[in-house]
Amino acid sequence: MMKKVSFIITLAVMLWTGLVTAASAEDIDWNKRLTSGTNIAYWIDSGCEYTVSIPNAVNKLMNPSGMTNPLIISKTTVKSSSKMDFYQNYVNNGIYASTSVFRKNSSGVYYQMPVSEKDTYDWVYGEIKINDYKMGQLTSTPREKVIIHEMLHVYGLKDLYLYENRSSIMYGYSDGTATTLTSDANNVLKAKY
Ligand SMILES: [Zn+2]
Repeated sequence: MMKKVSFIITLAVMLWTGLVTAASAEDIDWNKRLTSGTNIAYWIDSGCEYTVSIPNAVNKLMNPSGMTNPLIISKTTVKSSSKMDFYQNYVNNGIYASTSVFRKNSSGVYYQMPVSEKDTYDWVYGEIKINDYKMGQLTSTPREKVIIHEMLHVYGLKDLYLYENRSSIMYGYSDGTATTLTSDANNVLKAKY
């Protein structure tokens, strides 16, 4: 009888542990990725003023301190060669920047993928829109942090919303503590590219 009770308790504890683990685990990436994303070019729209912050962020992403990854990202002035296009807007809201990704539909026409499709299809290029209303209020380090975070969305990394993840570059709220690429994100880059 004792043995049976202890078995049931063990089973209950295992089940509870499994449920808690499942509830607290949060994926840092989507299942899919940027096609041929290891060696890419980026392009900055003529209306985008962040011509210093963007190259700085690119450099921090390619050459993270104390870490390595295979990314090669160079600047191009030819938009059609770019897989990461930067634009600027000015909207009075709380959003610093936003990222969209694009793939071709069955008719061969590019369309903006809903985020949910990032688990189903690879994409060909991404667009990052910098909101000058919010980014204009930041100093250079947090600006570059936002740009790195958005670039990581193009590479296929997701936002993390658990408070436990606030030290990650992929933390999705503005009270995150990361200032540059973090090792959790770099590990995903190495696995994907
Ligand atoms: Zn984000």
